[in-house]
Amino acid sequence: MDYNYAIELSVNKKMLVFEAKLEGTSEQYGKLDEAIRTARFVRNSCLRHWMDNKDIDKYDLSAYCAVLAKEFEFAKNLNSMARQASAERAWAAISRFYDNCKKDKPGRGLTRKKVGQPYNNEYPTEPSDQQTEGCPTFSGTMRRKKGYPRFKKEQTHGSVEYKTSGWRLSENRRHIAFSDGFEAGTFKMWGTRDLHFYQLKQIKRVRVVRRADGYYVQFCIDQERIEKREPTAHNIGIDVGLNHFYTDSDGNTVANPRHLRKSEKSLKRLSRRMSKTDKGSKNRAKFRNKLARKHLKVSRQRKDFVVKTARCVVQSNDLVAYEDLKVRNMVRNRHLAKSISDAAWTQFRQWVEYFGKVFGVVTVAVLPHYTSQNCSNCGEVVKKSLSTRTHACLHCGHIQDRDWNAARNILEKGLRQVA
Ligand SMILES: [Zn+2]
Repeated sequence: MDYNYAIELSVNKKMLVFEAKLEGTSEQYGKLDEAIRTARFVRNSCLRHWMDNKDIDKYDLSAYCAVLAKEFEFAKNLNSMARQASAERAWAAISRFYDNCKKDKPGRGLTRKKVGQPYNNEYPTEPSDQQTEGCPTFSGTMRRKKGYPRFKKEQTHGSVEYKTSGWRLSENRRHIAFSDGFEAGTFKMWGTRDLHFYQLKQIKRVRVVRRADGYYVQFCIDQERIEKREPTAHNIGIDVGLNHFYTDSDGNTVANPRHLRKSEKSLKRLSRRMSKTDKGSKNRAKFRNKLARKHLKVSRQRKDFVVKTARCVVQSNDLVAYEDLKVRNMVRNRHLAKSISDAAWTQFRQWVEYFGKVFGVVTVAVLPHYTSQNCSNCGEVVKKSLSTRTHACLHCGHIQDRDWNAARNILEKGLRQVA
């Protein structure tokens, strides 16, 4: 089975996701666009409905779909279960916001890192005093802080989700037909080999996804993945950083993939060239598409690297400990190099946790406090700045690479946490 491309991450739902590329005519793609646009319209309308009538719930939104279908001809064209799925998406954004309010958590990617704050969260930061108690009556700052649901804009990527109707697979499972009011018709699919292993009734959702380089279909399959593995009697702690992708508690390092660096350079070059073109010009549109494709390529390369690395780490250990970094605070950053590695790290962690479940390996996230400051030999605190690359203990004389020392502390913390 091809792990690198066929399976997407969906740990929470315990579902497998397979993806295939759709091949059709430009007229057909146009119809998929209409379906995607309509799904977005339904989602946004539900959001608006919620904003105008607070105190409504999931079921009210679901009922509102029927109202929309009556009111707008094009909304009726979208399969009724797909309309429901769009309403569910709106509700997901709303309930995420409610949850954030309750847990006093900032919204996704919306908090900016304070200037001068150490990048790897070595020093614990106090929660801001502006973060108020969780009730959804909002001031402007509050909206930003809690991830207030936002309207989705038209952009290159977009998707529409069908459930168990509105589509049909061919006998040999190489073609899919969409049969709702948009009449997009039959598409050839590329990369559906894995689909043969499952029964039709296991397919719970079918999602059409538009990307910079074409249209894709995803099949969400209701099956938990469990695989057998021999115990290795080995535990590991890992420390992530910019110098290496990670350093483990045995002193091994995994290098940052070089292709990401290369891609990063061409991303920079492309966006610089795009910024020189006139707004609204054809040339700019051309560069925008080029840039989007490049981003797509980078994210695929990253995923490939991350999945392989995570699988390898999980399979060769009985316990994997890593830092519970607040990546939320790290992602927004002016430095592309860092944002790329942050993204890779977030994804890596998700896959480690996913494979942990699949292979029955304990994965544990530890608080990042003092992991690089403490001595992994005697436990004393040895203060050091970010630029100090070597840990040299004044108390016991222990000398070790900074990241290696940190990784050993992380492992110890992880073991303690589990015990
Ligand atoms: Zn020491």
